[in-house]
Amino acid sequence: MNIAVLGAQWGDEGKGKIVDMLTPRFSAVARYQGGHNAGHTVYVRGTKFVLHLIPSGILHPGVTCIIGNGVVISPQALFDEIDELARLGVTVDGRLLISEKAHVILPYHRELDVLSEARRGERRIGTTSRGIGPAYEDKIGRRGIRICDLLGDQEALAGEVRENVSARNHIIKDSTLDWQPVFRDLVTFGERVRPWVGDVSLFLAQMFREGRPVMFEGAQATLLDIDHGTYPFVTSSNASVGGICTGLGVPPRAIGGVLGVAKAYTTRVGEGPLPTELSGALADRLRESGQEYGASTGRPRRCGWYDAVVVRYSARINGLDALALTKLDVLDGLPEVQLCTGYQTPQGLLTEFPADLRLLVDARPVYETMPGWSTPSRGMTRMDRLPTEARRYIERLEEVSGVECAIVSTGSDRDETIVAPGSVAAKWLSV
Ligand code: GDP
Repeated sequence: MNIAVLGAQWGDEGKGKIVDMLTPRFSAVARYQGGHNAGHTVYVRGTKFVLHLIPSGILHPGVTCIIGNGVVISPQALFDEIDELARLGVTVDGRLLISEKAHVILPYHRELDVLSEARRGERRIGTTSRGIGPAYEDKIGRRGIRICDLLGDQEALAGEVRENVSARNHIIKDSTLDWQPVFRDLVTFGERVRPWVGDVSLFLAQMFREGRPVMFEGAQATLLDIDHGTYPFVTSSNASVGGICTGLGVPPRAIGGVLGVAKAYTTRVGEGPLPTELSGALADRLRESGQEYGASTGRPRRCGWYDAVVVRYSARINGLDALALTKLDVLDGLPEVQLCTGYQTPQGLLTEFPADLRLLVDARPVYETMPGWSTPSRGMTRMDRLPTEARRYIERLEEVSGVECAIVSTGSDRDETIVAPGSVAAKWLSV
């Protein structure tokens, strides 16, 4: 069975660990959206390694890693990752497949990103400034450059680059960037990337026919989805389940199960609403215990209590079969913990996540307060060994979120994990 693993909150839920733990059950791992703004932290023989573009499945021998057409690719970031993997003794040859339809992040997309943020002033999004947004803008504006364009007729490519650079020169005042060095760099990139390029949809269809299971790996998360997230404070792609079909060229029926990854509390980086956001000592406590600093940018993350309105919304949008609840151990030792079940607004009680973010401006989270646990959950591998209060917290969290916790993560190590007996995850893992 093919399953999707995606973020149910605002990202950084610890998808890397969950994907890494499930990968040995799959023949391939496929990324369907985003760019090198994502960051999965993985440990290879004691060395910390942050993967941005290549699925972390690459660290498992025999697993094919796929980058779909929905991903935007920075040549520099891709080669840096390939070189770094080689340094660690991991070769991507024969195991990496990049869609010929994927769009390329051009050298000046980063500059446009920074400029666009500066222009927005107070309304800035808080992007990672890596050119991801402008690359998607070019894609939708129908002037983007795709991987297949680099491998075909050079004259046609030269024409496309000229047009793209001219569009850019119109946006940036007094800019007269020469298109030729951009063109030359793209030709060089094309030559290096050629061995890994192919028809991803066709390849996956073949895998499905052969009954070889595939994992679809989401980057960012549902509340950052361009359509269903907290617009405009979102990423530029469909991080939720719909992105799988468009970003890889696979039919909906290919997705056999969906696992949402959520932290036992909530974090977000960048701007935009975070209804359960905490400040002061409690926020610092969560940030320090959870090491809540961005894997890509090092930015401190904003921290708050678990928000069941958000996860219920994610469960509906994605059709979540189950949750992988991560970082339970970060709550160890707190005298009490809180679960948000709704927002009290001047217009009344909200129990569904709203489209209009203005409704959240004066919203107060409605909390259920539960006793914390003083015995640590850290490193636990069995549900029945967890402190009673932690178990009650999980049970109540499941009730208010409307989805079961099939996996509970109690530490960053692969072994520090509980798989709930009889859950869908137990079934997936026993295949
Ligand atoms: P991702 O982008 O969703 O993969 O999340 P990140 O990699 O940015 O952040 C996850 C971080 O949390 C990594 O450093 C993990 O090692 C760590 N982590 C994952 N699960 C747990 C857990 O259950 N407990 C603790 N303490 N850390 C965890």
